[in-house]
Amino acid sequence: MVYELPSDLQPGEKVLVSACALGERTRYDGRGKADLELIAALKKHKCEVIPVCPEIAGGLPTPRPPAEIKGGVPLDVFQSKQGVRIRTVVAAPHYPKGWDFTKEFLRGTEAVMQTALQHGVRYAFFQERSPSCGVKQTHADGELINAPGLTTVALQAMGVEVLAADGTAH
Ligand code: SF4
Repeated sequence: MVYELPSDLQPGEKVLVSACALGERTRYDGRGKADLELIAALKKHKCEVIPVCPEIAGGLPTPRPPAEIKGGVPLDVFQSKQGVRIRTVVAAPHYPKGWDFTKEFLRGTEAVMQTALQHGVRYAFFQERSPSCGVKQTHADGELINAPGLTTVALQAMGVEVLAADGTAH
């Protein structure tokens, strides 16, 4: 399958890509999840790929407990609505269930926004279903919901077009 890049993406243009979609082992479970079709398409188009991982940039380790939005959607976290937090969903010895990751997620999102600004990127290719990078879907309150993740929401607010990096939902 061929990943179809946006028609106005210029050869050599700088783009942000979720680090795990490039195969980097940045996911909560210590693994990567490479989108080989996307990688091949960007390479063929000679794009300058800038890998980003908001959760690592926010100071979280790998591996780490999975997290989800609690009490709202990522847009609410971005807009700092009261009571909406990002919490872990499984207990781990050093991160008890319910541990609040909101600060780290926001810090990482700000770092990625800065990177986007610094490089003047127009497009980002993000890992689908992550609470940070999800494009059409993300995890909230125990379910997979139809809403973008926190960093995606922030980039979209800056005018960056965020496309899914699973090779299917763009
Ligand atoms: S989905 Fe985003 S936050 Fe999660 S590991 Fe990949 S790059 Fe990092």
